Amino acid sequence: MARYTGPVCRICRRESVKLFLKGEKCFTKCTLEKRSSPPGMHQQRRRKVSDFALQLREKQKARRMYGVLERQMKNTFDRAAEVTGATGETLLINLESRLDNAVYRAGFAKSRAQARQLVNHGHITVNGRVSSTPSHEVAAGDQIAVKESSRASNYFKEVAGWAKTQTRPGWLEVDPDAYTAKVLARPTRDQIEAQINTQLVVEHYSR
Ligand code: SF4
Repeated sequence: MARYTGPVCRICRRESVKLFLKGEKCFTKCTLEKRSSPPGMHQQRRRKVSDFALQLREKQKARRMYGVLERQMKNTFDRAAEVTGATGETLLINLESRLDNAVYRAGFAKSRAQARQLVNHGHITVNGRVSSTPSHEVAAGDQIAVKESSRASNYFKEVAGWAKTQTRPGWLEVDPDAYTAKVLARPTRDQIEAQINTQLVVEHYSR
């Protein structure tokens, strides 16, 4: 299945929530407030929303926010279901622990899509070794860094300033000037900004 390459604001309109897919523009020129109706010709039609539709929308919201394909999402859910505890919460924590998300939350990218590209292109190291796998799950104690040779680029010079302005989650300790971020602990549910009803996601996959 191919990755979606169309207009990303349309996805936010579809899910009726800001998913922060466009980087800096999401903070300065978000169009969702002006145009919040779902995309498509029949968006105004009133319909009774089924349980299935509610569960599907919640799952799609989570998947699109983290920028993962359906297959990856299902695999992440299956792994979460094998662990003792609340499956929905584990699923969300696993998504939050992805390397591309950690790079985004550290402020070294302005969107998760941009973070994924940085990882794919080999600009990010974990514990001193280049990791080009966006789905790599970081663990407590891991040291994430921008590769030495990449730091001189205009992009990283500029993004260091951006990183200083960002609110960081409690599970990451970031040093924007050194281009490093240390994973202090596994994220907890209350440290995850995503407003996802995980119960609906679990119900969707448990059908
Ligand atoms: Fe979503 Fe960002 Fe577009 Fe706003 S600007 S609708 S948050 S992608």
